[in-house]
Amino acid sequence: MPNQRSSRCYMQNHKDDKVSFKVEIPIGENNLTGRECPKPECLGYFKVQFGTGLKGENLPCHCPYCGHIGPHTTFLTPEQVEYAKSVALNQFTEVLLADLKKMEFESRPLGGFGLSVSMKVSGGTHPIYYYREKQLETEVVCEHCTLRYAVYGVFAFCPDCGLHNSLQIFNKSMELIVKMLDMSTSAEDVISSRLIENALGDCVSAFDGFGREVCHIRAGSTASPDKIKRLSFQNLEGARRNILDMFNYDVSTGLTTEEWFIAAKCFQKRHLLSHKMGVVDGDYISKTGDANAIIGRKITVTSEEVRTLVQILYKLAHNISIESGK
Ligand SMILES: [Zn+2]
Ligand SMILES: [Zn+2]
Repeated sequence: MPNQRSSRCYMQNHKDDKVSFKVEIPIGENNLTGRECPKPECLGYFKVQFGTGLKGENLPCHCPYCGHIGPHTTFLTPEQVEYAKSVALNQFTEVLLADLKKMEFESRPLGGFGLSVSMKVSGGTHPIYYYREKQLETEVVCEHCTLRYAVYGVFAFCPDCGLHNSLQIFNKSMELIVKMLDMSTSAEDVISSRLIENALGDCVSAFDGFGREVCHIRAGSTASPDKIKRLSFQNLEGARRNILDMFNYDVSTGLTTEEWFIAAKCFQKRHLLSHKMGVVDGDYISKTGDANAIIGRKITVTSEEVRTLVQILYKLAHNISIESGK
């Protein structure tokens, strides 16, 4: 992302008597400056910190939402365009008024019936249109090119290098889950088991959100893009079948049978906690063959198995990731 200084306006006189103005857009709060995707069906608003990210001249900008690529000058927001116009007009009227002022005159009447003629210039310069950048929801520092940017929602393409942040966001969620599990060791029993259960729920939610987003991005490479909207990663076996069906690759590649079994069992435990108040039913037993579970009793989830699940999910996410090149 190129460097950008604070607001300035440069006036240039050309040989053909034309005048042009170069206006620098002001840097917003927290050093983040607004951008807007020029694609009419997107018009997504986001912010970037100039000076971070890739170094170089005339680098293109990537829309974090739709992936459209174009020169930075095409990503100005309507407010920035209004501002630039008003600054140019302000400068122009200032110069014009100064020139006209120089032409002011007043002639005194000559004789009893003489006329007095005068010219006085009044009026001010064109007002400057000021604006504020909008507040956004998620701030990201791209782990590939170090660009600092902000978007609505969570997932986005990096405006500088174009890398999608889905894997970065997923990894951050996993780090938070491990911290939550660390906290559970020093908490009293009831709090501890709730923290572990919540950590398991967060694992499934993060994986589901990540998987859906990656498939959404890759919708163009499947013959049945409508199916993508209904795709869920909360049921591991179902997700595996669907991915195989739609994208022709197995998400469990590289996992041992044991690892796949542990992950599938953890996902089924999460299902019981979310939909059955954690009470074991026949469906759970038939799907997992869990010898330690008894129908009608509460399911137990240990910190160790959620930690193991986190490690397995890292592998699965890598398999699903768009960076895997599959
Ligand atoms: Zn866009
Ligand atoms: Zn980047």
